[in-house]
Amino acid sequence: MKVSGAAVATVAVVTWLSFLATTSDAQGYDFFYLVMQWPRAVCNQPRSNCRAAVPRTFTIHGMWPQTNRGGSPQNCPGRVRDVRSSGRVDRGTLGAMDRQWPNLKRGGRDPNSQFWTHEWNKHGTCSRMSLQNYFRRAVDRAASVDVLRLLRSNRIQPDNRSYRRAAIEAALNRYDPVVKCNDVRSGGRTYKQIHEIRFCVQRDGNRVVSCGRRTQFRSCGSGDIRFSR
Ligand code: 5GP
Repeated sequence: MKVSGAAVATVAVVTWLSFLATTSDAQGYDFFYLVMQWPRAVCNQPRSNCRAAVPRTFTIHGMWPQTNRGGSPQNCPGRVRDVRSSGRVDRGTLGAMDRQWPNLKRGGRDPNSQFWTHEWNKHGTCSRMSLQNYFRRAVDRAASVDVLRLLRSNRIQPDNRSYRRAAIEAALNRYDPVVKCNDVRSGGRTYKQIHEIRFCVQRDGNRVVSCGRRTQFRSCGSGDIRFSR
């Protein structure tokens, strides 16, 4: 029997894809990024469409499953239409989410739930947790870090000044998180500012752990980093 080159290639591709599917399925994810955002840095951007008042504390953006190889599984089965009205998250947890995980942007009837639903459908569905466990763990871990107090106790505060990255690194060294920056224009200059801090949470969601490398500032340029008021 003569086997064409195309058929061999097809079999090879299908075999490779099914191998990838089984390995990523077996692995799923290894840890979470608990992504905390600085509301001022979200809202001082052009066309940010933020609500009139945003908290003066770090708020939760999301808790994202991650693999050690740098992957980020997304959009798994288990989508919901609306987290708050799903009946699958208890009232105490929803209250904590309203405080710690607000939608900073303007939205429809229930902007907070709109944001949580986006985050659950995109990231939470890949956690293999129930909605209740996923959201409860996110708010509990975020409360346990108290990132603003951690920075403040090292005299790093949101005062529109720029701070040495070594000082930020020292303040956060228990966790060695990933610090994400974005740009802000002020007085005719462009500054890199603290935008997000991504902490590592162990796979079961029960503990914030060190990310295991030195704090990374890859998106922060090479100079000092502003902490916007
Ligand atoms: P992801 O979709 O992967 O969770 O995160 C990226 C998106 O989240 C970006 O498009 C960013 O604009 C958006 N984002 C960040 N903070 C908020 C927020 O408070 N509300 C809403 N609706 N989107 C946000």
